[in-house]
Amino acid sequence: MEIRKGTAVSPGIAIARPMVIDSRDYRIPRRSIMTSQRTAEIKRVRRAFARAIQELDELESAKRFEESKIRDIFAVHMRFLRDKTFLKRITDFINKELVTGEYAVSMILREIASHFAGIDDPYISERAADIYDIEKRLLMQLLGRVEDNVEHLRDEVVILAHDLTPTQTAGFNKSFVKGFATERGGRTSHTAIVARSLGIPAVVALGDLSSEIPPDCTVIVDGNRGVVVIDADEETLRQYTQYARQISEFASELNVLRDLPAQTRDGIRIELLGNIEFPDETEHVLQKGGDGIGLYRTEFLYLYGGAEPTEEDHYHAYAEAIHTLKDKPVVIRTMDLGADKMPHSDWHPHEANPALGLRSIRYCLQDLPMFKTQLRAILRASVLGDVRAMFPLITNLQELRQAKMILRDVMEDLDEYDVPYNANMQVGIMIETPSSALTAGFLAQESDFFSIGTNDLIQYTLAVDRANEHVTTLFSAAEPAVLRLLRGVIQDAHKARIGLSLCGEIASDPEFIMLLLGMGVRTLSLAAPMIPEVKKIIRSVSIEECGDLARQVATLDSSRQIKNILRDAAMKILPETF
Ligand code: PEP
Ligand code: MG
Repeated sequence: MEIRKGTAVSPGIAIARPMVIDSRDYRIPRRSIMTSQRTAEIKRVRRAFARAIQELDELESAKRFEESKIRDIFAVHMRFLRDKTFLKRITDFINKELVTGEYAVSMILREIASHFAGIDDPYISERAADIYDIEKRLLMQLLGRVEDNVEHLRDEVVILAHDLTPTQTAGFNKSFVKGFATERGGRTSHTAIVARSLGIPAVVALGDLSSEIPPDCTVIVDGNRGVVVIDADEETLRQYTQYARQISEFASELNVLRDLPAQTRDGIRIELLGNIEFPDETEHVLQKGGDGIGLYRTEFLYLYGGAEPTEEDHYHAYAEAIHTLKDKPVVIRTMDLGADKMPHSDWHPHEANPALGLRSIRYCLQDLPMFKTQLRAILRASVLGDVRAMFPLITNLQELRQAKMILRDVMEDLDEYDVPYNANMQVGIMIETPSSALTAGFLAQESDFFSIGTNDLIQYTLAVDRANEHVTTLFSAAEPAVLRLLRGVIQDAHKARIGLSLCGEIASDPEFIMLLLGMGVRTLSLAAPMIPEVKKIIRSVSIEECGDLARQVATLDSSRQIKNILRDAAMKILPETF
């Protein structure tokens, strides 16, 4: 038995026989052609492109991929296949090197993929999987090979692979593919996103999985804890079978809470909103009992589309979410690109410290046409429902005033053309730097609401990169410095009588819920799957006991002590989670 630790990207437990697949297994040998064969070879390649495009068109029209995220991925593939410069690189290579079409396709695509993979940015490096996917699609056209036999499964399996392309993952039949584990990948890869949307448990970034895997052994993928057990022994199997049963019992128990209010035992109503990256997640938030959307991360429109989204792209995405929500609120955050979220390699000047550089609202204020395009779309959508706009990473009053001035400019443009919008749309900001937290009193005078982004607030307060695996143990919301800033922001928002929510990851951390309620937070925004668990905690506690806990925490000077106290309190309420 071998136990491996990786990154959990899609929750749940899968127990099945392994199926090892390798998406890099098409090794094309170099074969020369004669000069007289060049034209015919180029024709073959063109035909392969045309057929691959047709194949994607057919998949689309067969509505095989109903998830809009998955459709977006295929749209990226389609754009690549339709890109004339891309085809030209391949045909130029055939002309110059006198090689077969398949060799040229493989060489050029692998060159692009390894270029992507080498870029020190997870969003770009993970796009290499898309290129392998396109390579495979084209090679299948050129060589007439059949797809991996994953498509023809008759038994339940757990897939083990070096990496999986998004297309492979999207094509998995959930009845047979119970989970997967890969050597590479990250939480933000397309593959991880597809796994989550399909509900297939998955663990990635496991390092070398190439050790002999007995074909008829049992593999366990624990997508909650990021663990993979290869060749599980009987005792481990028994424990995991029991754990899987507990997870599903607990999930159905929590589902019962769906239509009950998130109200404490002493009657205080807490608003639970959802964080989304794509408009189709809105439905999921409602299914889990969410009261609306507290954070719509619109930068994902830029990260997936390839090209910069148009005003219509923005508008349609917002309209989709608003339509699903009916009258429930949606907080649309203006794009928060930069740092760890770069749409493509030449999007941005290279920076030594991108997290401290031209990111988020700073970038928007330097690229006014792009910023105004998004603001126009938000304003146009504001008449469709309860739409609120939010600026990320505001660090001082001047920045807020500038952003609001641009918003007013856009309103005037719309007035000129009689385009309707809600002139009273609420405009709030994210508090995610020590600078904005310390001046929250000033910022509150000119904001309709605050949303505290603890992910960045912790990063900037503690000087700990939130994406760096070497310092993860230092990244903690339980640090007294972070909690002191939180207290100040909450007080300033209350004093100014403006709205306040918290949308960082701690809003879904069972250990922090009581503390946040005790500190005065009444609106939390979190990922949909965690809403029932957080609701359960809220319904099990009184504000009075939360207040006592918060007062006790305020007297402590070490994060270790604070963590222990918070954990003990949460364990008493929700032992199933621990
Ligand atoms: C945050 O920083 O806490 C936040 C919610 O924003 P993001 O995670 O998108 O940076
Ligand atoms: Mg942030």
